[in-house]
Amino acid sequence: MQYISTRGAAPVLDFEATMLTGLARDGGLYLPAHVPPMTQGEIAALAGLSYEDQAYTIMRPFVGNTFDDEEFRALIAKAYAGFGHPARAPLKQLADNHFLLELFHGPTLAFKDFAMQLIGQLFQAALARSGDRVTIVGATSGDTGSAAIEAFRGLDNVDVFILYPHGRVSEVQRRQMTTPSEANVHALAIDGDFDTCQALVKDMFNDFAFRDEVRLAGVNSINWARVLAQVVYYFSAAVSLGAPHRPVSFTVPTGNFGDIFAGYIARAMGLPIEKLIVATNHNDILHRALSSGGYVTDGVKPSISPSMDIQVSSNFERALFDAYGRDGAAVAHSMDELKSAGGFHISQGALEFLREAFASGRASEEETSATIARTALATGETLCPHSAVGVHVAETFLSATPMVTLATAHPAKFPDAVEAATGKRPPLPERMADLFERPERVTRLANDLSTLEAHIKGHIRT
Ligand SMILES: *Cc1c(COP(=O)(O)O)cnc(C)c1O
Repeated sequence: MQYISTRGAAPVLDFEATMLTGLARDGGLYLPAHVPPMTQGEIAALAGLSYEDQAYTIMRPFVGNTFDDEEFRALIAKAYAGFGHPARAPLKQLADNHFLLELFHGPTLAFKDFAMQLIGQLFQAALARSGDRVTIVGATSGDTGSAAIEAFRGLDNVDVFILYPHGRVSEVQRRQMTTPSEANVHALAIDGDFDTCQALVKDMFNDFAFRDEVRLAGVNSINWARVLAQVVYYFSAAVSLGAPHRPVSFTVPTGNFGDIFAGYIARAMGLPIEKLIVATNHNDILHRALSSGGYVTDGVKPSISPSMDIQVSSNFERALFDAYGRDGAAVAHSMDELKSAGGFHISQGALEFLREAFASGRASEEETSATIARTALATGETLCPHSAVGVHVAETFLSATPMVTLATAHPAKFPDAVEAATGKRPPLPERMADLFERPERVTRLANDLSTLEAHIKGHIRT
């Protein structure tokens, strides 16, 4: 399996190099040169398999010869062994023809565990074989960082440094990053906001001497292996509801477009997905772009669903690449405009392609809050604010086709918003109830690149 860049000017790579590289050298994102199709019979045969066996069947063709069959099976088994639900991604029914796909039973209570737990295993296996080491540095507004620390803690060939904005993540998110005691994981509280952290990470990747010296690697959501791991639960949910004999629709609370893009890949593989619906909070650049054709940044407004507070939705570039007939130069041109002018116009043909592929909707803060309250009363299900954005939007698209809304985080990860909506503080699951008693370990650093690089160099194991 070969992977190509959305900007058409980076080397073609195999799965292993794509995974370890993250961002392409031309600034683009890697995608498979061809999406391997599954036949209707192969999809039907997924019914009744365990989540792990489905994952193996669906992902195997993408991995090529990076791992052999037995090794890949074993890595998948390890990745999902720590989940708190035997189904891994259980479906609950909310109403007639409306289902909730609970993706928050992983170790850090957000869907990012599905991908991060797997790539922790894949990185470790690939690095153990080559004898290489890497230093993973990432910026987070909360969920990515906690999932990455949990996935890479204690691994021999990896050191992990996560930058989060001091004082601006929820207490559960912070404690998930600061309480693991393994020597290879480091939580860094940066004086600044999320953009400050992200800019520092970017600057580090552009400091080639430093980048090479510490062998910097990225695991943010543009990493193809993360998208791939998320393809699996679209199949598992759809097959439970009767696919491939019956089509299914999905609504996805969206920030960086990684999760919904995994649904797009599932459809490209042959899964009969009728509607794929982008749900945004009041940071609605994607909804506006699909409605008007103008992809124009507008400043991030904080919301009660902070993991979707984005200004530039990086994975959207992958959808644009297909919308422009896989013309890397056209994508590069749009991305240059985004950088220089804060936006770009999607051509009529490309917009028609995107509207065929995706529908969209948005939820205001009030609508999100009201959805949490109403759903709890009607069904007993407590939604996190991100999932509530999805449910609100999904309700405007209900039809005879089963609708699946992705529940992206556990309500206990965002207790303030949930308590404000329902009057009840959602408890942490039993298995992590001691989170508030564990000792914290964190280093506070100023917004300064050389201080940060010196700190990292001083703490990597060699
Ligand atoms: C990351 C995240 C999202 C957004 O996912 P994308 O792949 O960035 O679109 C939504 N909800 C929660 C809880 C998240 O952590």
